[in-house]
Amino acid sequence: MSDQQTFEVLIAGAGPAGLLLARRLAQAGVCVAVVDPLLDLHQAAFSSAALPLSAVKEFQLPAQVQAARWHGWQLHGPGDQQRQWMADHDLGAVLDFGGLRQWLADQATAAGAHLQLGWAVRGWCSAASGAIANLRGPGGQERSVACRWLVDATGQRRALLGDPPAESGALVAGSGVEWLLQLPLPQWNQWSERLSFMLGRAWVPQGYGWVFPMQPGQLKLGVCRLHDASRRQPPLHQLLSQLQLRLHLADAPVLDRHGGLIRSTIRRREPHQRGPLLGLGDAVSTGNLLGGEGIRHAMASSEVLAPLLLQALGGRPDALRRYPLQLRRRLGWRWSLSGRLARRTWLGLNSSAGDQRLERLLEGLQQKSSAEELSALLFHYRFERYGWKALPYLLGWR
Ligand SMILES: Cc1cc2nc3c(=O)[nH]c(=O)nc-3n(C[C@H](O)[C@H](O)[C@H](O)COP(=O)(O)OP(=O)(O)OC[C@H]3O[C@@H](n4cnc5c(N)ncnc54)[C@H](O)[C@@H]3O)c2cc1C
Repeated sequence: MSDQQTFEVLIAGAGPAGLLLARRLAQAGVCVAVVDPLLDLHQAAFSSAALPLSAVKEFQLPAQVQAARWHGWQLHGPGDQQRQWMADHDLGAVLDFGGLRQWLADQATAAGAHLQLGWAVRGWCSAASGAIANLRGPGGQERSVACRWLVDATGQRRALLGDPPAESGALVAGSGVEWLLQLPLPQWNQWSERLSFMLGRAWVPQGYGWVFPMQPGQLKLGVCRLHDASRRQPPLHQLLSQLQLRLHLADAPVLDRHGGLIRSTIRRREPHQRGPLLGLGDAVSTGNLLGGEGIRHAMASSEVLAPLLLQALGGRPDALRRYPLQLRRRLGWRWSLSGRLARRTWLGLNSSAGDQRLERLLEGLQQKSSAEELSALLFHYRFERYGWKALPYLLGWR
């Protein structure tokens, strides 16, 4: 990068949101650059990256980024019980998150976007023609870049927008830790083709554990938990080691250890724009805490922002005022409801009463629901199928 380069749009963050936006803008002929401190997009692949099939189709994700397909659910808990729901067709995929980022980056650069790996945006200021961003490179060198619009796509870190103001409501946070395990095929087969979750306070208090299949011979084993300042919570690594022992996975070599945070406001009323700075993806709370997932929601935010940003670049900056509302509509009322319910659902799993509620819920699901219906509940938030009266029970309110 030479001193004071100029782009129409500069995107901070080469996650799914930033890279998809770069691709959409470059395809429309915009001079756009993406910067990210990662030197290699396969590094720090922190996300479990499970998606429903609808998202795989909607974003046309190719086979090369799908590590495994799944067509069922396996739920362990609250004690040693184990329940299974299997469909006769695929319901979703577990992605190779690093592979997804690399594929999106290849698509964006093929369309003409500039990708600057090893560079982080350290700060920015408004300028007559937009913004000036200050970048730091891999060797600590500093550069500045001028742009008409600057996009904060730095995920839950919100490196440029900062945390939302108090009036937008508190950020609800969950931490996840995940290990990539290598194991013999006969053992891997027991966990393949399904998403497995471990629920209940004897497994993971105020959260859940999971085993997701990757390519043959590899599994992701993880735990995620919502933060609760009023309670001492055991370290996540300790819970993960216990899970490994209890699931007879202790002999499997660990190929990679990673993890991270999901942080979202519940109502998503935070500012999405500050002058020439726009927020995208998890930086504006698209991560969903109920399912601990947000790749498809982050990519949806790029789909919403791209046409509005094109209008702004074409001389109609007012178009961007519609962004927060259009994004809320795209995510839908079910998304908001699930966000609100996440806190109660997970934080409530800390007592025998919580385990009993969970037991009743799982029993009911086993009797009444198919694998497809479980997907509709957990990925499409179709709570009403269980009747509005059942909702408080379903989500642990009573
Ligand atoms: C443990 C865990 C498990 C998860 N499992 C799932 C799952 O199964 N399914 C699912 O859909 N979602 C899952 N998620 C959530 C999902 O990964 C996120 O919602 C999604 O990655 C958000 O995309 P994004 O592009 O908004 O941000 P991110 O993917 O977080 O990308 C942000 C990028 O910004 C870069 N960056 C940071 N600071 C700067 C800076 N100053 N300048 C420039 N760049 C910067 C980072 O290096 C990063 O590459 C999980 C998350 C965690 C933590």
